[in-house]
Amino acid sequence: TPFEALPLAAPLHRALRELEYTTPSPIQAQAIPILLEGRDLLGSAQTGTGKTAGFALPILHALHEKPKPLKQKTARTLVLTPTRELAVQVAKSFTTYGRHVRFRQTLIYGGVGQNPQVAAMKTGVDVLVATPGRLLDLIDQKFLDLSGVEFFVLDEVDRMLDMGFQRDVTRIVGMLPKQRQSLFFSATMAPNIVKLAETILTEPAKVTI
Ligand code: AMP
Repeated sequence: TPFEALPLAAPLHRALRELEYTTPSPIQAQAIPILLEGRDLLGSAQTGTGKTAGFALPILHALHEKPKPLKQKTARTLVLTPTRELAVQVAKSFTTYGRHVRFRQTLIYGGVGQNPQVAAMKTGVDVLVATPGRLLDLIDQKFLDLSGVEFFVLDEVDRMLDMGFQRDVTRIVGMLPKQRQSLFFSATMAPNIVKLAETILTEPAKVTI
C-alpha cells in the first residue's frame, strides 16, 4: 500500500511526495497506524529500515493536528539517542519530514558549550532530541524539565545500554509525566532490554522487522 493510504496530515503527504517516498517500509507500514492511534510501541529494528520516519511522521502528525503554545523550558516530544551523531540525524529527519509543519525543535548533547542549548530551551520546544548525560546536566541545573513531554522516544536502546546509560535513562523516565505515549526501539531484544521496556511502556504493540 502507498503512503497515500495512511491517514497522515496533508503537509506530511506533501513532504513525502517531494521526497519521492512512495511506499512505506515494512516498519513504517506496521508502526505508523499503531502510533496514530496513540498506542505505545516496542520496535525491534536496525537503522536503515526507515525507523526514523516511522516515528517522526506520526509525531509530526500529532503536533500538526494539536498545536499548542510552547511551554517554557520543556518539550512536547523527547527523543533520546545514545550519541550526538544519531541525535543530529534524527533532528534532520524531523526537519525534513516536517518541512511543511510549523514546529520548533532543538538538540542537546555533550562535548560542546551548554549556553546555546540553554538559550534554545528557554521558550520551550515541540521536539527535543537529546543524549542522556547532557540532558540530565541541564535538568539538574533547572534549565529544563520534562513536565510537558507527551511523546517519548528511546532510540537504539541496546547501544544506549552498551554505553552505560541505563541509570541515566531510568532517572529520565522517572521524571516523565505518567500520561504520555512511549516508543522504544532496539536492534536486539536481550532480556535486560525487554525488562527495561516493561518499566517504560504500557500495553505496547510489538513490531519486528
Ligand atoms: P532510517 O532507518 O530511518 O535511518 O532511514 C534510512 C534511509 O531510508 C533514510 O535515508 C531515509 O531517508 C530513507 N527512507 C526512509 N523511509 C523511506 C521510504 N518509505 N521510501 C524511501 N526512502 C525512505
